[in-house]
Amino acid sequence: MARYIGPVCRLCRREGMKLFLKGSRCLTEKCAFDRRGYPPGQHGQSGKGGKPTEYSIQLREKQKVKHIYGLLERQFRGVFEKSAQTKGITGEVLLQSLERRLDNVVYKTGFVQSRREARQMLRHGHFVVNGRKVNLPSFLVREGDVLEIRGKSREDVRFKDALENLGSKIIPAWLEVEKENYRAKVTSLPSREEIQLPINEQLIVELYSK
Ligand code: SF4
Repeated sequence: MARYIGPVCRLCRREGMKLFLKGSRCLTEKCAFDRRGYPPGQHGQSGKGGKPTEYSIQLREKQKVKHIYGLLERQFRGVFEKSAQTKGITGEVLLQSLERRLDNVVYKTGFVQSRREARQMLRHGHFVVNGRKVNLPSFLVREGDVLEIRGKSREDVRFKDALENLGSKIIPAWLEVEKENYRAKVTSLPSREEIQLPINEQLIVELYSK
């Protein structure tokens, strides 16, 4: 599957906010956004970008969400279209669908350090959901689902490192993590308030409604 392979810190600088795409590095002084918070490119530092248009504001909002969850345009559009056909407020359904993706859930449990790493570990078959191996990052969890790191995989140094630092991670209220059993349960589906993203999802709805 196609994926973005460019420098990810550039995306944070482009969007003008920390998107936390590099795990623990994002919290250190090595963070490129903290060191150079201006947009990339020749005119980034001069700030000669001109006044943003309504379209560019909507576009940037969509790009932020797309990058945070690590989706390409076609995948993101697909999630949006499904959300628009689902009962509820489209913007909220969109964020909830993204939040329910298995790669995001694995990241939120603290078993890995970034969504990117979660995708890699999933594709390599390190997880089971309700006892069955699932290697699809786009798998949508449901209330009551239980995910676990597979037996042999528990020895992987990346999991060990992440689990050692689990205490410093904020686990969302809709997940129950049993670190000692390498297991997490989805106790409820995330509400908009629990998806703590500084995003105005309505701008994305307006963009795609043009
Ligand atoms: Fe963004 Fe993390 Fe890179 Fe900082 S270190 S610019 S938060 S991806």
